[in-house]
Amino acid sequence: MTTTRFAPSPTGYIHVGNLRTALFNYLIARKASGTFILRIDDTDAERSKQEYTDAIMQDLEWLGLTWDKVEYQSKRLERYEAAADALREKGRFYEAFETPVELDLKRKKQLNMGKPPVYDRAALEMSDAEREALRAERGQGVWRFKLDHTRIAWEDGILGALSIDAASVSDPVLIRQDGQMLYTLASVVDDTEMGVTHVVRGSDHVTNTATQIQIIEALGGTAPSFAHHSLLTGPQGEALSKRLGTLALRDLRERGVAPEALLSLMARLGSSQPVELRTSLDEIAEGFSLDQFGSAPTKFDENDLFPLTARHLHGLPLEAVADKIAALGVPDALAAPFWDVTRENITVLADLEGWWDLCRNGAEPVIDAEDADFVAQAMTMLPEGPFDAGTWSAWTAEVKAATGRKGRGLFMPLRKALTGMSHGPDMGDLMPLLQVVRARG
Ligand code: GLU
Repeated sequence: MTTTRFAPSPTGYIHVGNLRTALFNYLIARKASGTFILRIDDTDAERSKQEYTDAIMQDLEWLGLTWDKVEYQSKRLERYEAAADALREKGRFYEAFETPVELDLKRKKQLNMGKPPVYDRAALEMSDAEREALRAERGQGVWRFKLDHTRIAWEDGILGALSIDAASVSDPVLIRQDGQMLYTLASVVDDTEMGVTHVVRGSDHVTNTATQIQIIEALGGTAPSFAHHSLLTGPQGEALSKRLGTLALRDLRERGVAPEALLSLMARLGSSQPVELRTSLDEIAEGFSLDQFGSAPTKFDENDLFPLTARHLHGLPLEAVADKIAALGVPDALAAPFWDVTRENITVLADLEGWWDLCRNGAEPVIDAEDADFVAQAMTMLPEGPFDAGTWSAWTAEVKAATGRKGRGLFMPLRKALTGMSHGPDMGDLMPLLQVVRARG
C-alpha cells in the first residue's frame, strides 16, 4: 500500500517550492490509490502557529490537494521519547555539552587545518564523572545520534544511485538542550510508524536522508523510498530562497492565478514533459512519473502562470463563473453573452470587472486628432440603444458609405471611441452589451 506524506512546518505560509513537494507526494499516492498524509511538523512550539496550520490547509484545499489523514508531531512526543530511549539502549545516542560557541571554534580550527568541519565526538571520550560535572555546570546537553562510519547508499527516485560517507557528516543532534525533539528523529519515527513508503522532498534534504536511513535501521525499521527533487530558481537561474516569501500560494491566489494553472505548471516544470494546461488532478496524475525529473535546478517564472490561467478561463463554461459575474452586478439575462464576449479577453477573473464597467458606464473615448471629424460624423449615425447583434455591421456599413473609409481606418477609430482601447472582443458581439456610449458628445 503506497503511503506518502507532505510534512510542512507551520512556521510560515507555504510557497511554490513547498507546493512542488506537496504535489509530487500527492500524485504518487493518488496514482497508486494510496494514502496521502498531511503531517504538521510542529515540534518547535515557539515558532509553530495554529494560524499557519490553518493557512496551509486552506492553501492545499484551494488546490484540491486533499489529504486522507492529518497528523501532528506535537501530539506524538511520547513516541519520539520512546525512540530516543531505544537508541540509548542500543548505544547509538549520546549526550554532548559543547556550547554553540565552542562548536563554532572547533569547526573553524578544522577548516583552518583543511579538515571537514565534522563533530569530533569529544563527548564520547568523557568519563561519567566529567559528564556529571558538565551537567551540573551547564544543565542538560544535546543528544546526538552516533552514526556508523560506513557508506550510506540508496537508490534515489530522481537522483539515481546516491551514497554518502557517514564519516563526512556530524553525528546529528536529535534532541536540543531544552529537550525539544528535532525533526530528524520525529520524522523518522513518523515515517516508520505511519507506514510511509515514499518520501519526496527537496534536494536540500539529501544529507538528512543519509542519517535518517541509519536512524531508521537502528530502530529496526525499513527505510522508505526516497526521492529528492531539485530546488527552484528564478527565471535567470538566480536563487529563489529569498523571494519565496513573495511566492506564497496565498499571494498567487490573491493575484488571480487559477489552481489549475499552478498545478499544471508545477507538475511538469523540470521534467522532460511539456507544460500543458490540465484541468483536473486526475489528468495531471495520469502523465506524472518521478523518473521524468532531473537533478538540474528548475527555473520557475511566476509570469508563466498567467497565460495558463487565461487559457484555463477561456475554456470555462458560464456555470463555473456565474457567481462571480452575478457579484459584479451583471443582470442574469446578460450573463451568458457577457461571458462569451469577455472570456477570451481576460487573464485573471478580476479583469471581468473592467469589462463590466465598460459595458455599464461606457469608456472614456480615445480619439486621435486626425479622426476627430470622422468620429463626430459617425456618432451622429449611431442609433439609439439598446444595440443588438446587427448594430455594429449596419452602423459601420452606413459610416463607410457616408465617409468612404474602410478597413482598419474605419473600424479602429470607432473601436477606440467606444471602448477607449485598440484591442478587445469582436465589436459586433460587444455592442449589444454596451449600455452607454460616452463618445456621443
Ligand atoms: N518539516 C520538514 C520540512 O519542511 C519536512 C521534511 C521532510 O519531508 O522530511 O523541511
